[in-house]
Amino acid sequence: MTSFTADDVSAVTANVEGMRDTLITLSHEISADPELSYDEHRAAARCADLLEQNGFEVERASYGQPTSFAARLGSGDTHIVICAEYDALPGVGHACGHNIIAASGLGAGMALAPLLDAANMRLTVLGTHAEEVGGGKVELIDAGAFDDADVALMMHPTPYDDYGPKSLACEEWIVVHKGRASHASGAPELGLNALDGVIAGYNNISLLRQSFRKYQQVHGVIVDGGKAPNVIPERAEASYYLRAVNSEDLEDLRTRVRACLEGAATATGTTVEISVNGYVYESLKPHEKLVATFTEACDAIGREFFPDPSGEELGGSTDFGNVSQRIPGLHADLAVYCSPAVNHQHEFAAACISPDGDKSMLDAAKALALTALAVAADPAMVKQ
Ligand SMILES: [Zn+2]
Ligand SMILES: [Zn+2]
Repeated sequence: MTSFTADDVSAVTANVEGMRDTLITLSHEISADPELSYDEHRAAARCADLLEQNGFEVERASYGQPTSFAARLGSGDTHIVICAEYDALPGVGHACGHNIIAASGLGAGMALAPLLDAANMRLTVLGTHAEEVGGGKVELIDAGAFDDADVALMMHPTPYDDYGPKSLACEEWIVVHKGRASHASGAPELGLNALDGVIAGYNNISLLRQSFRKYQQVHGVIVDGGKAPNVIPERAEASYYLRAVNSEDLEDLRTRVRACLEGAATATGTTVEISVNGYVYESLKPHEKLVATFTEACDAIGREFFPDPSGEELGGSTDFGNVSQRIPGLHADLAVYCSPAVNHQHEFAAACISPDGDKSMLDAAKALALTALAVAADPAMVKQ
Protein backbone atom coordinates (compact mmCIF):
# COMPACT_ATOMS: atom_id res chain seq x y z
CA MET A 1 0.00 0.00 0.00
CA THR A 2 1.42 3.37 -1.00
CA SER A 3 1.29 5.74 1.87
CA PHE A 4 2.88 8.90 3.18
CA THR A 5 6.68 9.02 3.49
CA ALA A 6 8.95 9.66 6.46
CA ASP A 7 9.61 13.11 4.97
CA ASP A 8 5.85 13.74 4.95
CA VAL A 9 5.70 12.86 8.65
CA SER A 10 8.54 15.28 9.46
CA ALA A 11 7.09 18.09 7.36
CA VAL A 12 3.53 17.75 8.64
CA THR A 13 4.67 17.44 12.24
CA ALA A 14 6.86 20.53 11.94
CA ASN A 15 4.11 22.53 10.22
CA VAL A 16 1.45 21.67 12.81
CA GLU A 17 3.81 22.23 15.74
CA GLY A 18 4.72 25.60 14.23
CA MET A 19 1.05 26.59 14.47
CA ARG A 20 0.42 24.99 17.85
CA ASP A 21 -0.42 28.21 19.72
CA THR A 22 -2.56 29.57 16.87
CA LEU A 23 -4.61 26.37 16.65
CA ILE A 24 -5.09 26.05 20.40
CA THR A 25 -6.16 29.70 20.58
CA LEU A 26 -8.70 29.15 17.77
CA SER A 27 -10.07 26.05 19.48
CA HIS A 28 -10.42 27.77 22.86
CA GLU A 29 -11.96 30.92 21.36
CA ILE A 30 -14.64 28.92 19.57
CA SER A 31 -15.33 26.94 22.75
CA ALA A 32 -15.69 30.14 24.79
CA ASP A 33 -18.17 31.64 22.31
CA PRO A 34 -20.70 28.90 21.54
CA GLU A 35 -23.22 29.47 18.73
CA LEU A 36 -26.10 27.18 17.81
CA SER A 37 -26.64 25.46 14.45
CA TYR A 38 -27.29 27.94 11.60
CA ASP A 39 -26.10 30.80 13.82
CA GLU A 40 -22.35 30.09 13.81
CA HIS A 41 -21.40 33.48 12.33
CA ARG A 42 -18.47 34.31 14.60
CA ALA A 43 -16.97 30.80 14.53
CA ALA A 44 -17.17 30.67 10.74
CA ALA A 45 -15.59 34.14 10.49
CA ARG A 46 -12.76 33.16 12.88
CA CYS A 47 -11.94 30.15 10.69
CA ALA A 48 -12.31 32.01 7.40
CA ASP A 49 -10.07 34.86 8.60
CA LEU A 50 -7.30 32.50 9.69
CA LEU A 51 -7.40 30.53 6.44
CA GLU A 52 -7.28 33.76 4.46
CA GLN A 53 -4.26 34.94 6.44
CA ASN A 54 -2.62 31.64 5.52
CA GLY A 55 -3.02 32.07 1.80
CA PHE A 56 -6.29 30.27 1.09
CA GLU A 57 -8.82 31.72 -1.29
CA VAL A 58 -11.87 31.94 0.93
CA GLU A 59 -15.48 32.07 -0.20
CA ARG A 60 -17.68 33.10 2.72
CA ALA A 61 -21.34 32.08 2.93
CA SER A 62 -20.52 29.42 0.34
CA TYR A 63 -23.15 27.19 -1.30
CA GLY A 64 -25.92 29.57 -0.26
CA GLN A 65 -25.34 28.96 3.45
CA PRO A 66 -24.68 32.09 5.54
CA THR A 67 -22.54 30.23 8.10
CA SER A 68 -20.59 27.98 5.76
CA PHE A 69 -17.34 28.80 3.95
CA ALA A 70 -15.06 27.16 1.41
CA ALA A 71 -11.31 27.81 1.62
CA ARG A 72 -9.52 26.58 -1.49
CA LEU A 73 -5.87 26.16 -2.40
CA GLY A 74 -3.81 24.32 -5.01
CA SER A 75 -4.46 23.02 -8.50
CA GLY A 76 -3.37 19.38 -8.36
CA ASP A 77 -5.32 16.42 -9.66
CA THR A 78 -6.52 14.94 -6.37
CA HIS A 79 -9.16 17.02 -4.62
CA ILE A 80 -9.32 16.56 -0.85
CA VAL A 81 -12.10 18.11 1.22
CA ILE A 82 -11.53 18.55 4.96
CA CYS A 83 -14.68 19.31 6.95
CA ALA A 84 -14.65 21.78 9.84
CA GLU A 85 -17.70 21.80 12.13
CA TYR A 86 -18.18 24.58 14.69
CA ASP A 87 -21.77 24.57 16.00
CA ALA A 88 -22.64 24.18 19.69
CA LEU A 89 -25.55 22.86 21.78
CA PRO A 90 -28.21 24.71 23.77
CA GLY A 91 -27.46 24.78 27.50
CA VAL A 92 -24.19 22.86 27.39
CA GLY A 93 -22.22 24.94 24.87
CA HIS A 94 -19.37 23.20 23.06
CA ALA A 95 -20.09 19.90 24.79
CA CYS A 96 -19.66 18.01 21.51
CA GLY A 97 -16.19 19.48 21.05
CA HIS A 98 -16.77 20.91 17.59
CA ASN A 99 -14.14 23.53 18.50
CA ILE A 100 -11.61 20.69 18.17
CA ILE A 101 -13.07 19.62 14.82
CA ALA A 102 -12.67 23.14 13.46
CA ALA A 103 -9.14 23.67 14.80
CA SER A 104 -7.86 20.27 13.66
CA GLY A 105 -9.43 20.68 10.20
CA LEU A 106 -7.79 24.07 9.79
CA GLY A 107 -4.53 22.72 11.22
CA ALA A 108 -4.49 19.90 8.67
CA GLY A 109 -5.30 22.28 5.83
CA MET A 110 -2.70 24.87 6.77
CA ALA A 111 -0.05 22.17 7.36
CA LEU A 112 -0.72 20.85 3.85
CA ALA A 113 -0.64 24.27 2.17
CA PRO A 114 3.12 24.37 1.41
CA LEU A 115 3.06 20.70 0.30
CA LEU A 116 0.19 20.83 -2.21
CA ASP A 117 2.13 21.35 -5.44
CA ALA A 118 4.62 18.57 -4.77
CA ALA A 119 1.77 16.28 -3.79
CA ASN A 120 -0.33 17.15 -6.90
CA MET A 121 -3.21 17.95 -4.55
CA ARG A 122 -6.04 20.44 -4.51
CA LEU A 123 -7.53 21.22 -1.12
CA THR A 124 -10.78 22.60 0.22
CA VAL A 125 -11.28 23.28 3.90
CA LEU A 126 -15.06 23.32 4.04
CA GLY A 127 -16.86 25.06 6.87
CA THR A 128 -19.77 22.71 7.55
CA HIS A 129 -22.52 24.46 9.50
CA ALA A 130 -25.40 23.01 11.52
CA GLU A 131 -24.35 19.47 12.40
CA GLU A 132 -26.17 19.18 15.73
CA VAL A 133 -29.53 20.24 14.34
CA GLY A 134 -30.75 20.35 10.77
CA GLY A 135 -28.06 18.58 8.78
CA GLY A 136 -25.94 21.28 7.15
CA LYS A 137 -23.88 18.78 5.19
CA VAL A 138 -27.01 17.60 3.38
CA GLU A 139 -27.55 21.17 2.18
CA LEU A 140 -23.90 21.34 1.12
CA ILE A 141 -24.18 18.00 -0.73
CA ASP A 142 -27.31 19.23 -2.52
CA ALA A 143 -25.54 22.47 -3.49
CA GLY A 144 -22.62 20.53 -5.02
CA ALA A 145 -19.94 21.06 -2.36
CA PHE A 146 -18.68 17.48 -2.67
CA ASP A 147 -19.31 16.96 -6.40
CA ASP A 148 -15.69 16.95 -7.55
CA ALA A 149 -14.11 15.76 -4.29
CA ASP A 150 -12.13 12.53 -4.30
CA VAL A 151 -12.42 12.12 -0.52
CA ALA A 152 -13.79 13.95 2.49
CA LEU A 153 -11.96 13.81 5.81
CA MET A 154 -12.75 14.93 9.35
CA MET A 155 -12.27 14.01 12.99
CA HIS A 156 -14.58 14.10 16.01
CA PRO A 157 -13.60 14.18 19.68
CA THR A 158 -15.00 11.32 21.80
CA PRO A 159 -14.16 9.55 25.08
CA TYR A 160 -12.21 6.80 23.25
CA ASP A 161 -10.34 6.32 19.97
CA ASP A 162 -12.25 4.73 17.11
CA TYR A 163 -10.84 5.68 13.72
CA GLY A 164 -13.60 3.99 11.74
CA PRO A 165 -16.78 4.43 13.78
CA LYS A 166 -20.25 3.59 12.57
CA SER A 167 -23.28 5.71 13.40
CA LEU A 168 -27.05 5.42 13.37
CA ALA A 169 -29.38 6.83 10.75
CA CYS A 170 -31.55 9.50 12.36
CA GLU A 171 -34.66 11.55 11.65
CA GLU A 172 -36.37 14.20 13.80
CA TRP A 173 -40.15 14.29 14.04
CA ILE A 174 -42.18 17.27 15.19
CA VAL A 175 -45.48 15.94 16.55
CA VAL A 176 -48.37 18.35 17.14
CA HIS A 177 -51.65 17.30 18.74
CA LYS A 178 -54.63 19.61 18.53
CA GLY A 179 -57.81 19.42 20.61
CA ARG A 180 -60.26 21.95 22.03
CA ALA A 181 -59.78 24.41 24.90
CA SER A 182 -62.29 24.55 27.70
CA HIS A 183 -62.59 25.43 31.41
CA ALA A 184 -60.77 22.56 33.12
CA SER A 185 -63.15 22.65 36.11
CA GLY A 186 -66.32 24.34 34.86
CA ALA A 187 -66.77 22.50 31.57
CA PRO A 188 -64.13 19.76 31.16
CA GLU A 189 -66.57 17.66 29.12
CA LEU A 190 -66.37 20.26 26.32
CA GLY A 191 -62.57 20.06 26.03
CA LEU A 192 -60.29 17.79 24.04
CA ASN A 193 -56.94 17.61 25.79
CA ALA A 194 -54.01 17.89 23.36
CA LEU A 195 -51.49 17.29 26.16
CA ASP A 196 -53.17 13.94 26.81
CA GLY A 197 -52.60 13.15 23.16
CA VAL A 198 -48.89 13.83 23.51
CA ILE A 199 -48.62 11.89 26.80
CA ALA A 200 -50.49 8.90 25.34
CA GLY A 201 -48.20 8.91 22.29
CA TYR A 202 -45.11 9.11 24.50
CA ASN A 203 -46.37 6.19 26.59
CA ASN A 204 -47.27 4.12 23.52
CA ILE A 205 -43.70 4.53 22.25
CA SER A 206 -42.38 3.52 25.67
CA LEU A 207 -44.49 0.33 25.48
CA LEU A 208 -43.24 -0.35 21.96
CA ARG A 209 -39.61 -0.05 23.10
CA GLN A 210 -39.45 -3.66 24.32
CA SER A 211 -39.87 -4.92 20.77
CA PHE A 212 -37.42 -2.57 19.09
CA ARG A 213 -34.91 -4.22 16.78
CA LYS A 214 -31.28 -3.93 17.89
CA TYR A 215 -30.09 -0.29 17.64
CA GLN A 216 -33.57 1.09 16.95
CA GLN A 217 -34.00 4.06 19.29
CA VAL A 218 -36.60 6.74 19.95
CA HIS A 219 -36.09 9.61 22.38
CA GLY A 220 -38.26 12.63 22.79
CA VAL A 221 -39.12 15.75 24.73
CA ILE A 222 -42.37 17.63 25.17
CA VAL A 223 -41.80 21.17 23.95
CA ASP A 224 -45.33 22.52 24.43
CA GLY A 225 -47.60 21.07 27.11
CA GLY A 226 -50.25 23.80 27.35
CA LYS A 227 -50.35 27.17 29.04
CA ALA A 228 -52.29 26.93 32.31
CA PRO A 229 -53.76 24.14 34.45
CA ASN A 230 -57.25 25.65 34.37
CA VAL A 231 -57.36 25.71 30.56
CA ILE A 232 -57.58 22.36 28.82
CA PRO A 233 -54.61 22.48 26.39
CA GLU A 234 -55.81 22.85 22.81
CA ARG A 235 -52.29 22.39 21.42
CA ALA A 236 -49.33 20.32 22.53
CA GLU A 237 -46.10 19.44 20.80
CA ALA A 238 -43.34 16.89 21.14
CA SER A 239 -40.04 16.35 19.34
CA TYR A 240 -38.68 12.85 18.77
CA TYR A 241 -35.49 11.46 17.25
CA LEU A 242 -35.94 8.12 15.50
CA ARG A 243 -32.68 6.23 15.01
CA ALA A 244 -31.76 2.91 13.46
CA VAL A 245 -28.75 1.11 12.10
CA ASN A 246 -29.82 1.37 8.45
CA SER A 247 -32.57 2.84 6.31
CA GLU A 248 -34.64 -0.35 6.33
CA ASP A 249 -34.78 -0.47 10.13
CA LEU A 250 -35.52 3.26 10.15
CA GLU A 251 -38.49 2.74 7.82
CA ASP A 252 -39.77 -0.07 10.07
CA LEU A 253 -39.49 2.27 13.04
CA ARG A 254 -41.34 5.06 11.24
CA THR A 255 -44.30 2.76 10.60
CA ARG A 256 -44.55 1.57 14.18
CA VAL A 257 -44.03 4.96 15.84
CA ARG A 258 -46.60 6.53 13.53
CA ALA A 259 -49.11 3.90 14.73
CA CYS A 260 -48.31 4.82 18.36
CA LEU A 261 -49.03 8.49 17.69
CA GLU A 262 -52.17 7.92 15.63
CA GLY A 263 -53.49 5.52 18.26
CA ALA A 264 -52.94 8.21 20.87
CA ALA A 265 -54.89 10.71 18.79
CA THR A 266 -57.79 8.29 18.38
CA ALA A 267 -57.88 7.52 22.09
CA THR A 268 -57.90 11.18 23.14
CA GLY A 269 -60.10 12.58 20.38
CA THR A 270 -57.32 14.90 19.24
CA THR A 271 -55.72 15.26 15.83
CA VAL A 272 -52.07 14.61 15.24
CA GLU A 273 -49.75 16.13 12.65
CA ILE A 274 -46.31 14.65 12.11
CA SER A 275 -43.63 16.53 10.20
CA VAL A 276 -39.97 15.81 9.61
CA ASN A 277 -37.55 18.50 10.79
CA GLY A 278 -34.38 18.94 8.76
CA TYR A 279 -32.90 16.04 6.83
CA VAL A 280 -32.41 12.34 7.42
CA TYR A 281 -28.93 11.68 8.78
CA GLU A 282 -27.68 8.54 7.05
CA SER A 283 -25.41 6.04 8.79
CA LEU A 284 -21.62 6.40 8.51
CA LYS A 285 -19.90 4.20 5.95
CA PRO A 286 -16.23 3.96 6.99
CA HIS A 287 -13.82 3.55 4.06
CA GLU A 288 -11.49 0.75 5.13
CA LYS A 289 -8.39 1.99 3.33
CA LEU A 290 -8.80 5.52 4.70
CA VAL A 291 -9.24 4.12 8.21
CA ALA A 292 -6.13 1.95 7.79
CA THR A 293 -4.12 4.92 6.50
CA PHE A 294 -5.29 7.18 9.33
CA THR A 295 -4.35 4.44 11.82
CA GLU A 296 -0.88 4.25 10.26
CA ALA A 297 -0.61 8.03 10.48
CA CYS A 298 -1.45 7.97 14.20
CA ASP A 299 1.24 5.32 14.72
CA ALA A 300 3.74 7.42 12.77
CA ILE A 301 3.17 10.49 14.96
CA GLY A 302 3.38 8.40 18.12
CA ARG A 303 -0.27 8.47 19.16
CA GLU A 304 -1.08 5.40 21.23
CA PHE A 305 -4.45 3.83 20.35
CA PHE A 306 -6.91 4.22 23.23
CA PRO A 307 -9.99 2.05 22.52
CA ASP A 308 -13.20 1.73 24.50
CA PRO A 309 -12.53 -1.07 27.02
CA SER A 310 -16.18 -2.17 26.80
CA GLY A 311 -15.80 -3.03 23.12
CA GLU A 312 -17.31 -1.45 20.06
CA GLU A 313 -20.06 1.03 20.78
CA LEU A 314 -22.71 2.17 18.33
CA GLY A 315 -24.71 5.29 19.06
CA GLY A 316 -25.24 8.83 17.87
CA SER A 317 -25.61 10.15 14.38
CA THR A 318 -23.83 12.59 12.10
CA ASP A 319 -24.65 14.29 8.82
CA PHE A 320 -21.18 13.22 7.66
CA GLY A 321 -22.93 9.85 7.24
CA ASN A 322 -24.63 11.30 4.14
CA VAL A 323 -21.25 12.41 2.77
CA SER A 324 -19.69 8.99 3.42
CA GLN A 325 -22.55 7.25 1.57
CA ARG A 326 -21.70 9.27 -1.55
CA ILE A 327 -17.89 9.58 -1.66
CA PRO A 328 -15.05 7.87 0.23
CA GLY A 329 -15.03 9.42 3.69
CA LEU A 330 -13.17 9.29 6.98
CA HIS A 331 -14.80 10.37 10.28
CA ALA A 332 -12.13 9.47 12.83
CA ASP A 333 -13.10 9.63 16.49
CA LEU A 334 -10.23 10.72 18.74
CA ALA A 335 -10.23 10.37 22.51
CA VAL A 336 -10.03 13.41 24.74
CA TYR A 337 -9.44 11.06 27.72
CA CYS A 338 -12.49 12.24 29.67
CA SER A 339 -14.21 9.00 30.75
CA PRO A 340 -16.69 8.69 32.46
CA ALA A 341 -17.76 11.99 30.86
CA VAL A 342 -19.31 11.65 27.41
CA ASN A 343 -20.31 14.00 24.59
CA HIS A 344 -23.11 16.48 25.39
CA GLN A 345 -22.09 16.80 29.05
CA HIS A 346 -20.60 19.95 30.61
CA GLU A 347 -17.52 17.90 31.58
CA PHE A 348 -16.94 17.02 27.92
CA ALA A 349 -16.85 20.69 26.94
CA ALA A 350 -14.14 21.18 29.60
CA ALA A 351 -12.18 18.16 28.31
CA CYS A 352 -12.18 19.67 24.82
CA ILE A 353 -10.14 22.67 26.02
CA SER A 354 -7.90 20.68 28.38
CA PRO A 355 -4.24 19.88 27.60
CA ASP A 356 -5.38 16.35 26.61
CA GLY A 357 -8.04 17.83 24.32
CA ASP A 358 -5.49 20.17 22.75
CA LYS A 359 -3.13 17.24 22.17
CA SER A 360 -5.83 15.24 20.39
CA MET A 361 -6.68 18.28 18.26
CA LEU A 362 -3.02 18.56 17.16
CA ASP A 363 -2.73 14.78 16.64
CA ALA A 364 -5.83 14.86 14.45
CA ALA A 365 -4.45 17.75 12.39
CA LYS A 366 -1.28 15.77 11.71
CA ALA A 367 -2.99 12.45 10.99
CA LEU A 368 -5.61 14.05 8.70
CA ALA A 369 -2.86 15.82 6.74
CA LEU A 370 -0.85 12.59 6.38
CA THR A 371 -3.97 10.71 5.24
CA ALA A 372 -4.56 13.38 2.59
CA LEU A 373 -0.95 13.03 1.36
CA ALA A 374 -1.34 9.25 1.13
CA VAL A 375 -4.49 9.64 -0.99
CA ALA A 376 -2.77 12.13 -3.30
CA ALA A 377 0.21 9.78 -3.66
CA ASP A 378 -2.06 6.88 -4.60
CA PRO A 379 -5.47 8.12 -5.75
CA ALA A 380 -6.36 4.58 -6.82
CA MET A 381 -6.75 3.63 -3.15
CA VAL A 382 -10.11 5.41 -3.00
CA LYS A 383 -11.25 4.44 -6.51
CA GLN A 384 -12.98 1.10 -6.75
ZN1 LIG B 1 -20.63 16.37 17.35
ZN1 LIG C 1 -23.11 16.23 19.21
